[in-house]
Order: sequence, then structure tokens, then C-alpha cells
Amino acid sequence: MQLFDLHTSIANVSIGIMERLTDVLTAGTFYFVYDYLQKNFGIFDIKPGVAVWILLLLGTDFIWYWYHRLAHEMNVFWAVHVVHHQSEDFNYTVSARITLFQAIVRTGFWCVLPIIGFPAPMITVMLLIHGLYPFFVHTQVIGKLGILEYFLVTPSHHRVHHACNDQYLDKNYGDVLIIWDKLFGTFEKEDEKPVYGLTKQLHTYSFLWQHFHFLVELWLTVKQQKTFKDKFKVVFGSPNLIDPEVRGKAEIIFGIEEHHEPLQQRLSNYVVWQVIVMLVALFAFILFEHQFGYSAKFLFTSFTILTLINCGAIMEQKQWIFAVEFLRMLVVGSALWLFNADYHIVTFFIVTALLLLVLFYRTVEERYLSVVYTVKE
Ligand SMILES: [Zn+2]
Ligand SMILES: [Zn+2]
Repeated sequence: MQLFDLHTSIANVSIGIMERLTDVLTAGTFYFVYDYLQKNFGIFDIKPGVAVWILLLLGTDFIWYWYHRLAHEMNVFWAVHVVHHQSEDFNYTVSARITLFQAIVRTGFWCVLPIIGFPAPMITVMLLIHGLYPFFVHTQVIGKLGILEYFLVTPSHHRVHHACNDQYLDKNYGDVLIIWDKLFGTFEKEDEKPVYGLTKQLHTYSFLWQHFHFLVELWLTVKQQKTFKDKFKVVFGSPNLIDPEVRGKAEIIFGIEEHHEPLQQRLSNYVVWQVIVMLVALFAFILFEHQFGYSAKFLFTSFTILTLINCGAIMEQKQWIFAVEFLRMLVVGSALWLFNADYHIVTFFIVTALLLLVLFYRTVEERYLSVVYTVKE
């Protein structure tokens, strides 16, 4: 049983870093939306109480079931949820594979709660608790859990959900309670050994391609349809409507190819360290987020996105990583310039360094790529 592949896990964590970061930046907006909806359109005026908390848990889990089921049954939603299912490994890092786009779609579904009348603070607390639970079910090392298997979503149930074996497809959508799957006929027990990932595996660590490959496939399929009705059907229809061959066409357009050469140890280390540093930086950012101004937030977000793209591209051994490194230098330069009191000297050094880099871009790029990608004998 393969539990852990380093590069797959890095890809999983990279996607999670991006989601956590954007989540911190957007959480206030989500709260504002719930609060606005409840105050203006709330059907009931609900006050907190034990029974109400239980109702809210049931309501949240029920909405989750339908959100998750539609995410698998409609292309427009699958386009954002597919990222969670790309990993061919199954371990705790997979729980981090959630994108910001998925968080936005999910928030759309959660809006049912304030419209029913649940107050925004209650919803926010419940979503935090509800959102923690799935972490524990992404594991192969916990077997079946006896009586809990009857009503909770267990690791065994969620292994089935992540498997691409025929009998396991589109099963076990529940988040905390498995009762919804049993009620609506989507439950499947774990018998055969699960094979994890997509029915047509992605074979890439590219941060960008993992996020956008299905949107490209969807776009190409929509373009092939003649009538508006057919286009509509593809967008809101099932992923089965997408011809698996479209992936190949999309990969040719964007120059995605499977890489067969193993990554050198030192490059692998470089990527691992970048991800570790970004995790620590993200932690610090979440702690001190309220003290940062807009420009600091913008620069930090840009640096994070560039670093994650860079890590994915290095694992794919792409030649364009130097362009990303150059952009990162620009971000670091801007940060130094913005947050340094001694403007003149710093500005002088940054401008000179960047000018030199622009003037000798090709030479520096060649040197950089040869240092990075040449195998030492
Ligand atoms: Zn799913
Ligand atoms: Zn999952």
C-alpha cells in the first residue's frame, strides 16, 4: 500500500496553502454576506439554543451532501471540485487539496442557512467545526470503526469516495454523517481495495494545470457544440459528457507533457524547503493579518502564488521557472522599497539590480537553468 509520495504531497499542500491564504482574506466577505442575507431575507428570527445548534449541524451537513453531490454531477461545479480528487495518494495532505474557487461555490450553497434565519456568528462557528472534521477521514491507516460506520462518515467511507474503481464512483458524498448517502441511494461499503484518483489520471505536479485543466477541457467541449442548448447541457451536465480524449488536446495547446526523468535530490529539497517556509510564513500571516495594510497583503499573496507556481514548475522541470523567479525578485524588491525607511539607498540598489537583470536577462537565465537542471556527475 502506497501511503505517501513526496511530490504528490507537496502538490496537495501547495493547493492548501493557497486556499488558506485566500480564505483569510475573504472570510470577512463571507461573514458579511451571511449577515446581510439573514438581516434582510431571513425567514425566521432564530436565537441560539442547544436544539438550534443540533438543527444547524444537521442543516449544514445536509446542504453539504447536496453541494458535494452536485459538485460531482455538474461540470460547472466539478471544474472546481476535481482538484480535491486528483491525488493518486490518499493521506492527510489530501484534505488540504481544496481551492478558493471551491470555497466560493460552497459559500453559495451555505447561503441557504442565513436565508432560513440562522445568524451569521452561529453559521461561522458551525462551518469552522464542520470544516475540521474531513481532515480526519483522509487516511488509509485507520480501518473500519465498528458501530460508528452506521452513522458517521469514517475513513473507510471516504476512501470509497476518493476511489476510481467502477463500483465506487459517485458514492459517499457525506461530510460528517453518512445517513444522507444511505437515504438518497449513494452509499457504498468498502470491500475491494480502492484505487485513488481520477478515472483518467492527471500525471502532473503543475500548480496551474491542476487548477485549470478541467476548465480548459470544459471550454473545448462547449466550443464543439453547435446549438446554445447543447452548450448549456455540457456546462450543467455530468462530467461523463466530456470526451476523455479532450484532455490530450488541452495538454497540447498548453504544452503539458508527462515528465519521466526523476527530480534530482537537491531540486526536490529546494521545493520542500520553499513549501515549508511558505507554511510558516502563512501561519505568521494568519496570526498578524489584521496588522497588514493592503499593499503588504497584496505583495504577500503575489509572492505566495508565484512560489507555489514555481514549485509546481520545478517538479515538472519547466524552462520558464526563471521568469517566475524574476517576478519573485520584483515582488521582493517592491516589498523592500515599500517597507524600508531609507528609501534612497534601497531604491538605488533595487533599481540597479533589476536593471542589470533586465539587461542580462538571457545570460542570467541560461546560467540559472544550467545550474538548476544540470545533473552533477
Ligand atoms: Zn468529492
Ligand atoms: Zn476528500
